[in-house]
Amino acid sequence: MRIPALFLGLAALAGCAATPRPAARAAPERREPVTILIGVDGARQDYLSAGLTPNLARLAAAGVSAAMQPSFPTKTFPNFWTMATGVRPDRSGIVGNTMEDAARPGERFTMATDDPFWWNAAKPIWIAAEEAGIRSATMFWPGSTIGWGGSGKADHGVYAGGSYPSDWQAFASAIPAPKRVDAVVDWLRRPAATRPRFVTLYFDDVDIAGHDNGPDAPATRAAMHMVDSEIGRLQRELAELGQPVNLIVVADHGMAATPAGQFIALDTIAPADSFRTIETGPYASIEPQPGRQAVLAAALSRPVPHMRCWPKAAIPARLRYGTHPRVPAWLCLAEPGWIVLATRPVKDTDKGAHGYDDAAPEMQALFVAGGPAFRAAGRLPAFRNTAIHPLLRRVLGMAADPSLDGDAAVFAPALK
Ligand code: AMP
Ligand code: ZN
Ligand code: ZN
Repeated sequence: MRIPALFLGLAALAGCAATPRPAARAAPERREPVTILIGVDGARQDYLSAGLTPNLARLAAAGVSAAMQPSFPTKTFPNFWTMATGVRPDRSGIVGNTMEDAARPGERFTMATDDPFWWNAAKPIWIAAEEAGIRSATMFWPGSTIGWGGSGKADHGVYAGGSYPSDWQAFASAIPAPKRVDAVVDWLRRPAATRPRFVTLYFDDVDIAGHDNGPDAPATRAAMHMVDSEIGRLQRELAELGQPVNLIVVADHGMAATPAGQFIALDTIAPADSFRTIETGPYASIEPQPGRQAVLAAALSRPVPHMRCWPKAAIPARLRYGTHPRVPAWLCLAEPGWIVLATRPVKDTDKGAHGYDDAAPEMQALFVAGGPAFRAAGRLPAFRNTAIHPLLRRVLGMAADPSLDGDAAVFAPALK
């Protein structure tokens, strides 16, 4: 049960009057700030100004906000991993939500893959923090359940030599947002010795609602409002604990409306036996079938409305994508609102999607930060999401890492 702050205050005063030696009582603990990185999957940058998020608006008013540019491809795993590592997808190795690797024939990476082989090329912030003596805890985040740096074959799910955050949770979408917040508050109720100083917290409600209903639908707005309310409750519960907090709230990408019928079926462009798709949606990543390279290349080189296709070596430089061996041979990228499928869909497609050009306005992601490390600096210029890991290093008091793809320069006016 919680005791109201006013009652505590009165009790303390009464205690002073009755006790001649107040110095004998323990002073209330002065807590060091905790840094909480909150990921709101699919929260488009303009949701912050839609009147749905009073708690985020208050955080932004006392701190900073910006439109954050995701990295291509504007999918969940590549972007949460880029924010965690400071390395863009084409270098981090998480080049899609689904991947293949010639070094692992017959294997396919999916969002359930926890073999560190796929993840080891870039170090996430929770591992770097633990190495710097900063206890870390992850209430979901893509990659946070990986025994990072581990190798070999799993023994009962454990890879030899892997490192984990001090506390982490196996992903389960069914665990509702309030339970996720409760878990973080419980970690912060612990005594100082076992209390985390860096925490991640992840919500998927806005992304799920955006796919099912579209980015501007009432259900999507309701999901954003609910997540904002939970962030507000987190702030109140931590205030009651006397726990100062730096909150850094990020999204992995935005969401575009995808009206029914706006699809391109690849088998109407290239012979069905000339290719196979690794991913489909706002973009399709495609491999030729053996011996069919020339047929596929000829088909994908003809112009098609609402879509551009490139062999991986010719992907435009602005997408910073195509050098990693895991990037498939061909990329076909639709214009926002259209989707690319292997064949005509048999059921209705989603009403919202992401994965488009990282410069598309619909893909820009929400960013808000505030707390004792930040000053009220208003709206920052737009920046790329490779800056998030460097920002976390600054806020956690860790040395900068010049080998990363981003730096914290954009935050200079915002940091105390
Ligand atoms: P997508 O919209 O396909 O890019 O991916 C979003 C989905 O990824 C969400 O609906 C989440 O439920 C799911 N997801 C998020 N984090 C994880 C994770 N750590 N492991 C597996 N699935 C996840
Ligand atoms: Zn996502
Ligand atoms: Zn999504």
